Amino acid sequence: SSLSTRDQLVNWHPYTQMQTAPPPIGIVRGEGAVLYAEDGKEYIDAVSSWWVNIHGHAHPHIAERVSQQLRTLEHVIFAGFTHAPAVELSERLLRLLPANQTRVFYTDNGSTAVEVALKMALQYWYNQGIQKTKIIAFEGSYHGDTFGAMSVSERSVFTRPFQQYLFDVEFLPVPVPGQEAATLVKLKQILAQNDIAAFVFEPLVLGTAGMVMYSPEVLDQLLQLCQEHHVITIADEVMTGFGRTGKRFACDYLTRQPDLMCFSKGLTGGTMALGVTTCSQQVYDIFLSDDKTKALFHGHSYTANPVACAAGLASLDLVEAASFQQNLDRISAAHTAYAESLTGKPGIKACRQTGTILAIEFEVGETSYFNCLRDQLYALGLENGVLLRPLGNIIYVLSPYCITQEQLTRVYETIDQMRLLVLQ
Ligand code: PMP
Repeated sequence: SSLSTRDQLVNWHPYTQMQTAPPPIGIVRGEGAVLYAEDGKEYIDAVSSWWVNIHGHAHPHIAERVSQQLRTLEHVIFAGFTHAPAVELSERLLRLLPANQTRVFYTDNGSTAVEVALKMALQYWYNQGIQKTKIIAFEGSYHGDTFGAMSVSERSVFTRPFQQYLFDVEFLPVPVPGQEAATLVKLKQILAQNDIAAFVFEPLVLGTAGMVMYSPEVLDQLLQLCQEHHVITIADEVMTGFGRTGKRFACDYLTRQPDLMCFSKGLTGGTMALGVTTCSQQVYDIFLSDDKTKALFHGHSYTANPVACAAGLASLDLVEAASFQQNLDRISAAHTAYAESLTGKPGIKACRQTGTILAIEFEVGETSYFNCLRDQLYALGLENGVLLRPLGNIIYVLSPYCITQEQLTRVYETIDQMRLLVLQ
């Protein structure tokens, strides 16, 4: 019997326990922007499989580097030992990041990269005997589904059953166009309490909130206020990192530099699970001590796995190739032209774009995961051979950067059909 049938007897998938959920689609192969299913169908992966496969599927350069590493050194404990892939990946990553970032901490995924950043920020003050224990985050943000990351997320669908176990957070409205002043006023009020340890944010685009966008200028102002009040700033670039916003990193649009940064997803181009938290020397220095209790007691068995780091190195080769920026510019321009063609059309409430991230908000329904329109839009995409995962009434494109113009046109045509469905 099919993979899909066998899967339904043994696997527990994220999010989809409804009795009526469609069966999972068995995928047997991927190449470029395309996924090949066991029944012979093909799907354009317009969401880069949860925003990770930035270079497309089964990229030969990454595959080669990973298999080489697997035959050389597959794993070694990272407490007291090191290896070339971790040293080289950190060296190269730090060269690309804002100049104040000097240390790399390895972890397993985006949630734990955020978890580590929160621990670093809280312990930064604890180590100094300073009572700063509260965190600020944006309303509607998503930083992951471990307990710390859930605490700083405001997505009730994820947190509802666990609310009593989450720590207290000050939520700040997102400074979307027109709301900048209100956010700045609210931030000043929060900062007047002097127990604020850190501010964690998705720079420029809040992904899970529905690709909610705000400007680098206002983010610079928020960072300035935080820095004036000695609040640690944490940029969660798990989604925005590695080209999504049209530059290598969202923080490349800023004049200020965050203290801590979190990466995962695009870090290995969607090949191996890996996350990193990077920090400034100022933060690291507070943990450097012969007093052992000052150390960061956090470390997982797979920390800095050499194969995953090798995948990161191979992915960086592609990020640093000339074709990388060309592809970002090509996709950004195509999105702009398509968004312009939609503006003012019936059924379209808003089009938003930051670089290669395009979001279209339909003028119906609510922005809820439990929205049946969402399921209809999703099904329509799959029927057309296009994987698009709506967030309620919002459809977004975060394609691999190798997507061809022809494939992009197929994606846009599918969104056109979705608009017609919404109008029915
Ligand atoms: N932060 C952001 C901004 C994210 O978009 C995500 C995942 N969607 C995470 C953190 C969590 O990453 P992961 O799913 O790899 O744990």
